[in-house]
Amino acid sequence: MSIAERLAHVRGQIREAARRAGRSEEEIRLLAVSKTKPIAAIEEAYQAGLRDFGENYAQELAEKAEALKHLTDVRWHMIGHLQRNKVKLIVPHASFVHTVDSPRLAHELGKRVVASRAPLRVLVQVNVAGERQKSGCAPADLDAVLEAIEAEAQLELTGLMTIPPQSDDASESLEYFRKLARLREGRGGVARLPELSMGMSHDFPEAIFAGATTIRVGTSIFGAREPRP
Ligand SMILES: *Cc1c(COP(=O)(O)O)cnc(C)c1O
Repeated sequence: MSIAERLAHVRGQIREAARRAGRSEEEIRLLAVSKTKPIAAIEEAYQAGLRDFGENYAQELAEKAEALKHLTDVRWHMIGHLQRNKVKLIVPHASFVHTVDSPRLAHELGKRVVASRAPLRVLVQVNVAGERQKSGCAPADLDAVLEAIEAEAQLELTGLMTIPPQSDDASESLEYFRKLARLREGRGGVARLPELSMGMSHDFPEAIFAGATTIRVGTSIFGAREPRP
């Protein structure tokens, strides 16, 4: 199946999920997760109409953004764990960072974004299930991270992001998506945190049901990934 055909299928699922949730599909941003996929696949997805691409590794994001800089309306999203020493690699290219999880990382990002460009939009990754080896801040630390972002003139606080525990049963994700939505309600709601980034190939309909405004979809658009060497 071509990327355009897979994309048409995904768009149909988004439409159906939005309809069931009583929402408009226009309020849901489809972020195409292109990690490990070649430049040619991203170009094909662009031709099919996609403009938002997500990468997990700083180096890979920088290389792809550089190779595709002629596509001036592409928005690059950093969706993987970000180390402070990698911030400078992504800052020239990224429009969004979904994985801010500490005041220190917020401060480093704020320092590196130059004043001449648009503010970098950042989301706070929250480890809603309290899983041990997962990145993201604990719900109890969320306020400190939000305040650190708001203290940086070059960062624009944009929302919350989560990755629920891995499960074959997508309905199990729903509880964690709802938890993220409740965390937002307790912290200024949509006015302060407009975006909820949640839902991947196997569970994005559940995420849309719980209020996702950005879904991060890789496999269902690009096909299965090769394991990283
Ligand atoms: C890889 C990845 C995705 C996409 O996963 P698929 O199951 O391929 O849709 C979404 N979000 C994050 C943070 C990822 O690392």
